[in-house]
Formats: sequence, structure tokens, C-alpha cells
Amino acid sequence: KLSNRLRKVASYLPKGAHFADIGSDHAYLPCYVCSNDSTARAIAGEVNEGPLSSAIDTIKTYQLQDVIEARLGNGLAVLQQGEVNQVVIAGMGGALIRSILENGKDKLEKVNLIIAQPNVDEKNVRSWYMENGFIIEDEAILEENGHIYEIIVGQRSNNKETLSDQQLLFGPILLNRRDALFFKKWKSERDKLINVIRQMKQAKVQDTMKIGKFEEQLSWIEEVLR
Ligand code: SAM
Repeated sequence: KLSNRLRKVASYLPKGAHFADIGSDHAYLPCYVCSNDSTARAIAGEVNEGPLSSAIDTIKTYQLQDVIEARLGNGLAVLQQGEVNQVVIAGMGGALIRSILENGKDKLEKVNLIIAQPNVDEKNVRSWYMENGFIIEDEAILEENGHIYEIIVGQRSNNKETLSDQQLLFGPILLNRRDALFFKKWKSERDKLINVIRQMKQAKVQDTMKIGKFEEQLSWIEEVLR
């Protein structure tokens, strides 16, 4: 059974999607999508041999070889230009997702939807969208196995979206909704940040710039939690 996290990611794909799942690991997500939609086509990209062979196994198990292709390679390098219309990148840090998008820009010409599920550092994804002609169409926050996950859906658009530093950090849509999980996440982030700042202030050599940045971020969090 597919995790609620990947199920939610999948829910953002349109019917008949032609998409890439980058860092697909077992290819659970494309197998789920293509099992439920006979018109969907997918490319499962993996940079590591082990996960790639797991992907190939899952695809065979579900007999989806005709509609899902597993390819070995780094990020979007597995794609031909114009081959897919949607890209999924889930279960990695936001900085890695950002660099995969940045390094593969030339493969995104026909891509109008990016569904990213960063595990940490979500603001990297939002700022990349903002700088590269994507607007945030939706965001989701969910908890699974004791971890809180965010999903950030980017839609290509001619309208420019300018997000404040706070919106980049919290997510413009999540910030508006402020549901219970959002508070739970940012309470925990606040506690972590207080500890980090305390430790940095105890260090012999202090990085005052960084401490200042963290203190600013802490003040944004406290404002949101108020
Ligand atoms: N996407 C799945 C999910 O969300 O459950 C799997 C996430 S798994 C934690 C991350 C996967 O990304 C690993 O299988 C890893 O090999 C792959 N990966 C990491 N960097 C990558 C890159 N630059 N290009 C393609 N795959 C990558």
C-alpha cells in the first residue's frame, strides 16, 4: 500500500499524465499512478544502481513495463527534451531538489507542473519556483511515521509571483491556512532554533552574521505562533 505522503503527491497529477519521478527508489509512485490510470506514462529516474534495480523489479511485478521506463542517471539528465509534462521529486532535501531543477532547466521546456516534496529546507524549492516562472498552485502538510512533510506544487505561469522571506520560509498557502500541523511543525522548529542559537552563542568564535540571521528567523516563527 502506498504511503499517504506519496498518495497525496500523486493526487496532484492530472489524468493522462506524462511524467518523470526523479529519485524514484522503488518506483512505488509511478506504479500506483499508472495502475490507476491506463493513459498515464512515466519515467522513473534514479542515480543509484540499487534503487534502480528495485524500481525495475516493482515495474515488472505490476507488469507496467510498457508504460513506465526506469532510467539510470543524475536528476533530469535521464530525460530527453520535451519528453514529459510533469515532474515529481519527492523524499529529498530542498537544496538537492533545487539543484536538480537548476541543473536540468533545459529539460523543463514542456513541463508545466512540478510536484516537490522536500523533507527539509522547503524554502529552496519555493525560491526556485519564484525565480523560474512557476507559481505555487497548492501546498500540503501531512504527518507520517512521526515526521511532518510538506508538498509544494508549482504551476508554470506568465504571472510573476513575488514572495516575501516569510512566505518562502513558511509557504504562502500553508501560512494562510495555519492548520494544526503547521503549528506543530513550527513549534518544534522554534525549539530547535532556540537551542542552535544558544549553542552558537556559547562558542568561542561566534558567527555573528549567522546568529543574526537565525534570530531574525526565530522572530518570524514567534510572530506566526503568537
Ligand atoms: N521518491 C521516493 C519517495 O519519496 O519515497 C524515494 C525517496 S528516497 C529517500 C531518495 C532517492 O533519490 C534515493 O533512491 C536516491 O538514490 C535518489 N537520488 C538522490 N539524488 C538523486 C539525483 N541527483 N538524481 C536522481 N536520483 C537521486
